[in-house]
Amino acid sequence: MNITLNNISMQFAEVTAVDRLSVTIEEGSLVSLLGPSGCGKSTTLFMLAGLYQPTSGELYFGEQLMNKVSPEKRQIGMVFQNYALYPHMTVLKNIMFPLKMAKVAKKEARESAIAMAELVQIGHLLERKPSQLSGGQQQRVAIARALVKKPKLLLLDEPLSNLDARLRLEMREEIRRIQQTIGITTVFVTHDQEEALSISDKILLIKDGKYQQYSDAREIYEYPQNEFVGRFLGNPPMNQLPAVLETNKQFVRLEDTDQRIAITKQVTHEVEPQEQVIVGVRPEDLFVQSENEQGGITGETMMVERIGRDNLLNIQVGKRKIRAIVSPDTEVTIGKKVTLGIRPGYCHLFHADTGESLL
Ligand code: ATP
Repeated sequence: MNITLNNISMQFAEVTAVDRLSVTIEEGSLVSLLGPSGCGKSTTLFMLAGLYQPTSGELYFGEQLMNKVSPEKRQIGMVFQNYALYPHMTVLKNIMFPLKMAKVAKKEARESAIAMAELVQIGHLLERKPSQLSGGQQQRVAIARALVKKPKLLLLDEPLSNLDARLRLEMREEIRRIQQTIGITTVFVTHDQEEALSISDKILLIKDGKYQQYSDAREIYEYPQNEFVGRFLGNPPMNQLPAVLETNKQFVRLEDTDQRIAITKQVTHEVEPQEQVIVGVRPEDLFVQSENEQGGITGETMMVERIGRDNLLNIQVGKRKIRAIVSPDTEVTIGKKVTLGIRPGYCHLFHADTGESLL
């Protein structure tokens, strides 16, 4: 069953929380809703859950129009940030609870709950109370409880945000494993780009309630459709330099300097020569080149910082600072001139007014 959002909007008084969103979530896939705080991720999830009815547009599960279908009739499982486990019940009772509500016979409910507990690897904790579990274990109970009725859709609202960094990493791999084992269509809300890039089949990036891009991790990272997408994904973020496109569309002239940079990609969009543009280059796509090679970016090294295996350079170019990640073998001296080349094919170019990619 695919899930289709067709021109969905959600209006709260003057606030348009979701603004004409259209996407299809394919059956069996894990889709992340990603974007800055307040961009409409939770509102979108609540519309999928049936907790909010869209102000306009249509929501379909398969062929069925769902706008007015109540949450209980949607066959969904949900996990929230705070897990919301029942503190007085054991793990087993917590997992069995949705089946009890659905009046499933006790023996069958128990067997289903135990099978689900095994799947999420808490089979040995069934008699404990939530207070006797670690954060990661509580999270597993919440997932088992959400899945025990065999829903068609799993909705996860920032499920990892209460966990420490190491556990987050472990649990996101677990969520992916469980999701793939049972092949359940899953929508995962997060504001953490790294989390979204690591576990999703597709990422829907939203800003101010509006669609920005809907692609797999590689495509959204390597081919951002606009300047916001380029900036939002990646850490440290993409360098963005205002420039003017030269008539031949192969070079740009950086603002505030007389430097010309080679665009190592074809400009495919209609654009006037001498148009104001923004050049985008990710720190890891820069390398130190010899000064007399043309088309590089020249600046002064301000700072060198070791980050794990590599070095992070801070370079002053005219009035702007740019960041480059280079191998620690690269020779650079603070206060000295350095010229950076761009990995062929890894330069981005955005229209200065619309922010749209020109490549
Ligand atoms: P966060 O990452 O901070 O949880 P979000 O992307 O999930 O944010 P939403 O919670 O969906 O964002 O909110 C989107 C916008 O709608 C925000 O401007 C928010 O203030 C507003 N909003 C959300 N729920 C309501 C509500 N019930 N009444 C009024 N405004 C709301």
